[in-house]
Amino acid sequence: MSAAAKRLLLFTSKLGYQTRSFEDAAKKLGVELVYVTDRCHQLDDPWNDRAIPVHFENAEAAVYSVMESVRGHEVSGVLAMGDRPAQAAAYVARGLGLQFHHPAAVEACRSKLRTREVLQAAGLPTPWFRTVGSKPTPEPSLLGITYPCVLKPLSLSASQGVIRANDRDEFVAAAARIARLLDTPDVRAAREPNLDQILVEGYIPGREVAVEGLLADGELRILAIFDKPDPLEGPFFEETIYVTPSRLSEASRQAIERCARDAVRALGLAHGPVHAEFRLNEQGLWPIEVAPRPIGGLCARALRFRAPADSDGISLEELLLRHALEIPGHHLPRESRASGVMMIPVPASGVLEKVEGEDAARATPGVTELIITARLHDYIAAWPEGSSYLGFLFASAETASEAEQILRDAHAKLRFVLTPRLPVEHPATGKVASG
Ligand code: ADP
Repeated sequence: MSAAAKRLLLFTSKLGYQTRSFEDAAKKLGVELVYVTDRCHQLDDPWNDRAIPVHFENAEAAVYSVMESVRGHEVSGVLAMGDRPAQAAAYVARGLGLQFHHPAAVEACRSKLRTREVLQAAGLPTPWFRTVGSKPTPEPSLLGITYPCVLKPLSLSASQGVIRANDRDEFVAAAARIARLLDTPDVRAAREPNLDQILVEGYIPGREVAVEGLLADGELRILAIFDKPDPLEGPFFEETIYVTPSRLSEASRQAIERCARDAVRALGLAHGPVHAEFRLNEQGLWPIEVAPRPIGGLCARALRFRAPADSDGISLEELLLRHALEIPGHHLPRESRASGVMMIPVPASGVLEKVEGEDAARATPGVTELIITARLHDYIAAWPEGSSYLGFLFASAETASEAEQILRDAHAKLRFVLTPRLPVEHPATGKVASG
């Protein structure tokens, strides 16, 4: 089959910046991209044959709709952005006989509890863990909880609702806060399973790294190891800077690669992108999470792949498309320059009134891109309730330390004016809700 005839199903909840790179790559390769999305109302032409509308919260129904929609059409590959879309993609890939992660492996990654169980059973370093009910607020002294520990919802992402507790009072406050978060209309609307449960696990000290990888028939290729130079010690775990290549020793990087291989094998991930996070301390390497999808947000823009003599290179999205559709060119290595991205933190919850210093930040030598994704006059929640950054800042440099410094310098030039939302009393119940 020629490349021009190839069609790929892209499962995604997010459209816009994130899918534009896939569209550019698809155009370049002459392949057809068909969205499978629950965000059809955001498409210019939602009901044309380039988008299949689904609700990811009901994977079975979503899979049925997709199978019906593609009947009689040749499909050559699937890709998914995000954890929930990956679940539907895995089932559809099975149905169509296409290579992708097995649905059982994707399900195991979707639940933080199941991930812990699988990794522990495989003998990988795992903190103690247990689930507790979110309501009524559990009494930790009766549950044998030790400190410090981390409380988290079972299936949210982007560190939303992940809280460290150092003693009983912090535990009780964190559990109540997570219960409130799990009860909010936005979280309820996503109909995640186990919203009445909280996972509690031992706090793992140490440095954290993120690994971007690509599996082909069970063989993992590491595309990049990102250092996270800012300490992530809680109480909340909003991400900030990612820089690659890693400045860790060769031995540590090899240990990360080994641990990543063991973790994906234990979970049964076999074909397609993976993004994983690990903590590193004197006791070894600890998997924090393994996701059957590429790096989230706009962070993929920090990665480019090219042959040594090539001046331009290709994006991660193009690499993934080539891999999924078996188009040559997906074995290119990451470029040799250091690259960094800052997920711009939310200093405090509030309505975003103004962003200052954008031009100055963009003019910082080494900054390649600044994208403010938060919309003016929208309410932005800080962590742990929040899960969206203010934007993304990118830098390219000779060395990783230079890339990190460029991001810090450029970020220092930005100012975000957020005004707290005033508490509002519900007219009937009298309950006071604040931002
Ligand atoms: P999510 O999938 O929502 O990102 P994670 O389980 O990956 O949730 O946790 C988010 C972040 O919280 C991690 O990247 C890490 O920094 C921190 N974290 C989570 N669990 C632990 C733990 N047991 N010990 C130390 N830090 C943790």
